[in-house]
Amino acid sequence: MKVLVVGNGGREHAIAKKLLESTRIKQVFCVPGNGGTATTEGCQNLPLNIDDFQGMERFVMVNNISLVIVGPELPLSLGIVDYFQQKKLMAFGPTQAGAQIESSKSWAKELMLEAGIPTPKAAVFTNPEAAKAYVVEQGTPIVIKADGLASGKGVTVATTVKMALSAINTIFRGAFGTDNIRVVVEEYVTGQEVSILALTDGITVEPLLPAQDHKAIGEGDKGANTGGMGAYAPAPIITPELMERIQTEILEPTLVALQKRQIDYRGVLYAGLMITAEGEPQVLEFNCRFGDPETQAVLSLLETPLEDLLLACCQQRLGEFSSNIRWKEGASVCVVLASGGYPGSYQKGKTITGIEEAEAKGVEVFHAGTQLKQQQLVSDGGRVLGVTAVGETLQQAIAKAYEAVDCIEFEGVYCRRDIGRRALVDKN
Ligand code: ATP
Repeated sequence: MKVLVVGNGGREHAIAKKLLESTRIKQVFCVPGNGGTATTEGCQNLPLNIDDFQGMERFVMVNNISLVIVGPELPLSLGIVDYFQQKKLMAFGPTQAGAQIESSKSWAKELMLEAGIPTPKAAVFTNPEAAKAYVVEQGTPIVIKADGLASGKGVTVATTVKMALSAINTIFRGAFGTDNIRVVVEEYVTGQEVSILALTDGITVEPLLPAQDHKAIGEGDKGANTGGMGAYAPAPIITPELMERIQTEILEPTLVALQKRQIDYRGVLYAGLMITAEGEPQVLEFNCRFGDPETQAVLSLLETPLEDLLLACCQQRLGEFSSNIRWKEGASVCVVLASGGYPGSYQKGKTITGIEEAEAKGVEVFHAGTQLKQQQLVSDGGRVLGVTAVGETLQQAIAKAYEAVDCIEFEGVYCRRDIGRRALVDKN
């Protein structure tokens, strides 16, 4: 079977490589892919944009592709799955209506409140002055969120009223879009963040292993937020009892609320949770796709063939896997190597060396911002590579990952040295 993967990140390279582990998968095409998918055997990049639905459809028809897997939120929110469904072609991911769970924070909040899902208290405003008055009344810390997709830049955790008011001004000045501007002002909660990536076919919802990512650029979770500097799985904070609660109090009611809205949601339902000091899960956000870099860590432990699970979601037979997804023993960690300066400005085009040496240590190196230029691998983005190791214990996985990290070089390379350590500290 041939598959087309949409996207160009580490997540898509991990999906492509996982699919190719199965003898059933003959070839994976990536739109547009990256330097990693360009050099992975069995993978081929296509020079198409992720919003060129017609171009992809033509390729799918001519080449007899069985399944399209959509990585990023943007094409989902633009209706790529609706488009393929209309053409009677199979695409993994929710429809445009379902993708609103990520593309509109106010929509998601309303759904959560209606379904009684635990989530911090919030108010939605279309008027900046009303939002500001609410902030002054509530006090700080408080969280200001632009309603739409903002690639992680639309959220401000404001520690002062001045910061909150300035974030509101930025949003209403149109920094994240000028149509139908809304702001969500949310209560600040503390605790540990966990990513629960679940698969659903619209009827059944099956969580994958819980993961934790490290969003901040600096060690000790300090500094500016990034797309994610590393992740590990399974997250020990999620006990089987807590997972059961997440299933019955969050994932299942969310699916029911989507059904009530006549939304046949098939794909990934990703709950970004805060586990409070009291051990209570609170939903901070939903995403409508696999997380990056959590996917790299989670899929490294998956034993059930990925295509079986994704096809089961599309064909509404995920129930066949009811609590029966197979996982490797142990733990995994993904350490992101970034360009110096990221998440601020950084340079591209730096020659990358040492990937083979790193992989000889028994890790997988997933590419994100890389490009193959005249047969030379160069950096092409902020997050460049994700070095991913599996170990019998998290400690072993971490040691293995960093041993491999040290083999890789490019000018200005930066990584956090403490990925996964939080889980070890918390355990002791
Ligand atoms: P964007 O919409 O810009 O892409 P996002 O979807 O990543 O951003 P969230 O996940 O809602 O946005 O928030 C980003 C980060 O802000 C969270 O990972 C968390 O660290 C912090 N955060 C969000 N909401 C809260 C809250 N209520 N209390 C404390 N921290 C929060």
